[in-house]
Amino acid sequence: NVTRLKRLENLRREFAANVSHELRTPVTSIKGFVETLLDGALDDRADAERFLRIVRDQAARLETLIQDLLALAGLERQTEAGGIALTRLPLAPVLAEAVASRAGKARAKQISMSLSCPAELQADLNPGLFQQAVGNLLDNAIAYSEPATAVSITAARAGSEVRLAVADQGRGIPAEHLDRIFERFYRVDKARSREAGGTGLGLAIVKHVVQAHRGRVTVESTVGKGSTFTIILPAP
Ligand code: ADP
Repeated sequence: NVTRLKRLENLRREFAANVSHELRTPVTSIKGFVETLLDGALDDRADAERFLRIVRDQAARLETLIQDLLALAGLERQTEAGGIALTRLPLAPVLAEAVASRAGKARAKQISMSLSCPAELQADLNPGLFQQAVGNLLDNAIAYSEPATAVSITAARAGSEVRLAVADQGRGIPAEHLDRIFERFYRVDKARSREAGGTGLGLAIVKHVVQAHRGRVTVESTVGKGSTFTIILPAP
């Protein structure tokens, strides 16, 4: 028990250090570019615009990071307070909303999204949170795929389970990283994740949401071919 507590304490400390680091990076960049502007870059219209765009992007990054951190904190609070509220609902409309919410992003990369889910398939859901989890998987599928590829969402009952697979034809994930990608702030390629607007928290949120649904999430991936994330829930 003591070892477990110590391990938790270490994890918490490591998380706090990671959060500080992740927050400091965009703040440092914003401060630096604003200083440069005040020091004279404002007089050059092209430079000024370029720097302001960077400031805008870094502020957006901070915003997503804070949103993701709040989402995780909210999930933890709700889980500790006795679990999130689940309601038996048809799955298809929840998935359709997740797809619709990412349609613009997919279109911008000419990525086609297909959804296959039997109308009668039900699950015990917190629709808002579940939609967010599926949305995060779609964000990744789109971010880590080349333009003009396909993303498919397939849901079906399998025995005593409901299985929901999000498959892409993207770059894939090297096997040695598969165990760790659900950890907070873990990324295969930090620079690429940042470029894609990632916080490194997306999959940690997915895992939390799925656990709050008494389910689990798995991943299979082949480098250069694509990845499939599968959410498995107990069937009602
Ligand atoms: P991020 O904000 O960096 O996307 P996530 O927690 O959502 O953070 O994902 C963690 C890492 O897992 C990503 O940085 C990326 O390296 C890898 N990853 C996640 N989804 C995919 C995917 N569909 N294809 C390839 N790599 C992925």
